[in-house]
Amino acid sequence: MRDRFGRQARHLRTREEERELAEARRTRRQDTRAPRDRAGDAEVGFEKMRRRERVLGRTSADRAPAPNTAQLAGTIVWLGRGRARVRCGEHERPAALAPDLARVQQTAVAVGDEVVLHERPDADPLVVSVSPRRSELARVDPDDPRRARVLAANVDVVVLVLAADRARTGLVDRLLAALAGSGAELAVCVNKQDLAHDQEALQRALAPHRDAGLAVVFASAVRGDGIDELRALLRGRAAAFVGHSGVGKSTLLNRLDPRNDRATGAVRDRDGRGRHTTSASSLTVLADGTRLIDTPGVRAFGLPEGRDDASAAFPDVHDLAQGCRFRDCAHRHEPGCAVRAAAEHGALDPARYRAFLRLGS
Ligand code: GDP
Ligand code: ZN
Repeated sequence: MRDRFGRQARHLRTREEERELAEARRTRRQDTRAPRDRAGDAEVGFEKMRRRERVLGRTSADRAPAPNTAQLAGTIVWLGRGRARVRCGEHERPAALAPDLARVQQTAVAVGDEVVLHERPDADPLVVSVSPRRSELARVDPDDPRRARVLAANVDVVVLVLAADRARTGLVDRLLAALAGSGAELAVCVNKQDLAHDQEALQRALAPHRDAGLAVVFASAVRGDGIDELRALLRGRAAAFVGHSGVGKSTLLNRLDPRNDRATGAVRDRDGRGRHTTSASSLTVLADGTRLIDTPGVRAFGLPEGRDDASAAFPDVHDLAQGCRFRDCAHRHEPGCAVRAAAEHGALDPARYRAFLRLGS
């Protein structure tokens, strides 16, 4: 009990700090962007959320819950439609989103959000409010370009993974631009060092960024090089790995977090099928306090999107499809389709799934 109160006291203190940070960020962004800018719309969503939070807070106070109604603080580790899994201390619990939050779910709640839950006697606890974020990764909603969709909240560092055998160093600038004002910082991991053929060109291309203070880790997930360095860089922080499919994100994440066995390309190649991980957490906490945020949308954050190529326009579907039983799966009625399963479980927005199917027909 004392432990819980201690945690909440800490929680309140950081909320105060986070509010100031968010305030500062908002002013900065308003200065530099046109009001009809897409990020501007994201801010509208954010504003709505903050207002809603206050309303929710008052409503629950007005209803005067029984004095012993427990209030919990936690972190969203998985989100489905109107549902979430929340890490409270050492434990993960299923929870429902309050209707007001569920309605604006795509901007109001994201994996990584710090939330407050109310216990209910005969049901899963209810997520009633979301704390102001210290950072957010967002992108334009493909179904409605005027709106933003928040992919993850409270990410400290985004790790751009490149493969040394064909490193697209141009992505570094792209990611820096995508992260400007997000509150998250960038680091680069050049993986597949065992396959590097032009180390010098790579060093040259990254030198200006390193001089500017960007952390660059050279790694080989299969050999194990650079893993300790990566671990030290991320220790105690919330990290998200982004990069093209096949650069080794899953393999790196498995190295950092051996308990969480993500299907990698190697597994997929061997037996032609992967596991679909729709019920697995999108946020895992390592023993040293590092938090790894891994969702298909986040993996593709900041990468170029081609409008005329289904897999480029739907990087999240493309990533999910790696778990389908059949390589040529059309994601309609095939057995073992990870994409359809994700849509059914809410890990993939059903509207987005339908939009994807329309594109392919
Ligand atoms: P993801 O799509 O970014 O998650 O990539 P995966 O982790 O699934 O890796 C894609 C392929 O690259 C798999 O066959 C991995 O075994 C392989 N791979 C990952 N890291 C390395 C590495 O450091 N060196 C080599 N040679 N192959 C790697
Ligand atoms: Zn499929």
